[in-house]
Amino acid sequence: MPRFSLEVSRLPFDPVCGKKVKKSELKYEYHGRIYYFCSDECLRKFKEKPSRYIMEKWDENSC
Ligand SMILES: [Zn+2]
Repeated sequence: MPRFSLEVSRLPFDPVCGKKVKKSELKYEYHGRIYYFCSDECLRKFKEKPSRYIMEKWDENSC
């Protein structure tokens, strides 16, 4: 039986730069959903204009 690495695909990512981040790092709740960030700078950018970074493109590969 093949083992699927679900944990890897479920890792939260920084919506600003797209990096995978650990849950223990910076986080910010927006519209009932928690987003994680690799740095203060990314968090600040997100807060300035969340709608710019919230897109489903990271969840789906449809193009
Ligand atoms: Zn980042």
